[in-house]
Amino acid sequence: MNTQKIIDEQSIERLISSHATENAEQINTILKKALLLKGLSSSDVATLIPIQSPALLDQLFQTAKQVKEMIYGNRIVLFAPLYISNLCGNDCAYCAFRATNQAIKRRALSQQEIAEEVKLLINQGHKRLLLVAGESYPNDGFQYILDAIETVYQTKTDRGSIRRLNVNIAPLDRENFHRLKQANIGTYQLFQETYHRETYSKVHLGGKKREYDWRLTAIDRAMLSGIDDIGVGVLFGLADWRFEILALLQHTEYLNTKYGVGPHTISIPRLEPALGSEIAASPPHPVSDVDFAKIIAILRLAVPYTGIILSTRESPETRRTALALGISQISAGSRTNPGGYSSENDQELAGQFALGDHRSLDEVIYDIASMGYLPSFCTACYRLGRTGHDFMDLAKPGEIKHFCSPNALATFEEYLLDFASPKTREAGEQLIQQELEKMGTKAQSLAIELLERIKAGQRDVFV
Ligand code: SAM
Ligand code: SF4
Repeated sequence: MNTQKIIDEQSIERLISSHATENAEQINTILKKALLLKGLSSSDVATLIPIQSPALLDQLFQTAKQVKEMIYGNRIVLFAPLYISNLCGNDCAYCAFRATNQAIKRRALSQQEIAEEVKLLINQGHKRLLLVAGESYPNDGFQYILDAIETVYQTKTDRGSIRRLNVNIAPLDRENFHRLKQANIGTYQLFQETYHRETYSKVHLGGKKREYDWRLTAIDRAMLSGIDDIGVGVLFGLADWRFEILALLQHTEYLNTKYGVGPHTISIPRLEPALGSEIAASPPHPVSDVDFAKIIAILRLAVPYTGIILSTRESPETRRTALALGISQISAGSRTNPGGYSSENDQELAGQFALGDHRSLDEVIYDIASMGYLPSFCTACYRLGRTGHDFMDLAKPGEIKHFCSPNALATFEEYLLDFASPKTREAGEQLIQQELEKMGTKAQSLAIELLERIKAGQRDVFV
């Protein structure tokens, strides 16, 4: 495969240099165009990148908020990462799990230990997890991951089970992607880290991950193996963010054209300090808070149908601001070391990177509900097979929110009844009433029906 066709570095460089300064007239036209929810071209995005003046920045942020509300409503989906192993054969200069880092204790959880972690997460109220692992598996190889997925889905407590498991693991060949598909995963996530080839080779110093093309074409192999629900991302801080955002869009555009399906999610991690990593402590291209906000807003306008994910790498303040700009999924109560939920106080078990948000799930939910966002644990699309083309057909014209809102209310009510602190429950019930009043008649009657079923003791109801 000719990967120049996916990422054309020269055209990106040209776009950046030909759009070096703010052009208010063009920016206004593009922001109006963005409200049509059809996305933006590379040159539109290049025009938005240099925005600096406070008035235009404000307009950009307001437009992003409007687009997010039109597509997804005000709901925010919650999940937690589940780190099962920090064994890794790669040598990524920014990551604490890299093979040459002697400073961390290595650990691959047994299936029993995975089940213990999952039980704790279920009993906090989680319904969606993201399985994460380094790129090296214990004795039985890739089967370890497949067994772990089965363990997660099989684990039940008297308070529920995990309904959707997304995975973030190293690129596979087609045979193993096929096996991953058979294991019933939700989204397959893979971040290119940096789309800039030269930077990529400077920071990936050993192991299979050194091969830029193998990673770039992984989403193709996943698609060709039947995985139509995929997530992409960039690790911001390694190369110029302007380059990364344009390259990310080229990748997205390529997938859309070739498979008719764009990424279901885009992740936007910023480099965080990691044990023993110099580059993580002082990123070569640090992204300021304002630029980070611009990245989120521009992505929201450029790929309006996509879920944008923000993790607990970021501080509560940054996360609050980001919600208004177009973030639609956040993690909460996270640990980034294998076994981290069961052994909270084990200092030897360093996480993959430093967390910016240490609050519990309940605290995060109270916070976002108090800000008027609707916390959601919905997994309906995946359960009903609304993925790939079916999902995009609803998401692209903004139809998805008619399902999202009733489902979000129902899963939020489950959380409030089964897991919430009294304070969160009170704030949450008020929010549910406000949401019902705002809804159109059809969605409202669907929501009322679902809520009544939950209050009558049913669980896991959705449309
Ligand atoms: N090992 C697999 C891989 O590298 O694709 C998957 C798991 S890896 C633990 C998940 C992601 O963590 C990486 O893709 C990278 O973007 C992110 N990451 C690694 N080090 C980080 C750091 N210091 N700060 C923020 N994110 C980091
Ligand atoms: Fe391994 Fe992934 Fe960390 Fe690289 S980012 S060292 S592949 S766990």
